[in-house]
Amino acid sequence: ADISSNGPTIFDKIISKEIKADIIYEDELCLAFNDIAPQAPVHFLVIPKRRISRLQDSETGDRELLGHLMLVARSLGAARAPQGWRLVVNNGVHGAQSVYHLHLHVLGGRQMKWPPG
Ligand code: 5GP
Repeated sequence: ADISSNGPTIFDKIISKEIKADIIYEDELCLAFNDIAPQAPVHFLVIPKRRISRLQDSETGDRELLGHLMLVARSLGAARAPQGWRLVVNNGVHGAQSVYHLHLHVLGGRQMKWPPG
């Protein structure tokens, strides 16, 4: 892993409730909260409580956790953006990842375009 992917991030402080977030779902494995800079009427993040820096750093042993994140994104997306949503994982520098704690973006509440640019 490159240097930018090492160490705790602001999301650890959101998980520990050291800093406040608009939490919409929580269980033993993950947390979902609204993005502080929403790019759509619905924009929340689903993150594992155990930090994985990038999707690229996940392992076969993370299969169940990764599946769980997807199922949580599915349930919350279906409830909050019933007309559809987009699931995004920014990975690494070219992926424009800014927080090196794996997170699924769920974006909805408006018509998306493709390709994203
Ligand atoms: P990335 O670019 O790493 O895929 O996305 C990180 C996301 O985290 C960005 O959309 C950014 O707005 C969001 N974010 C960064 N810091 C905070 C924070 O302290 N609270 C919340 N709720 N979102 C944050």
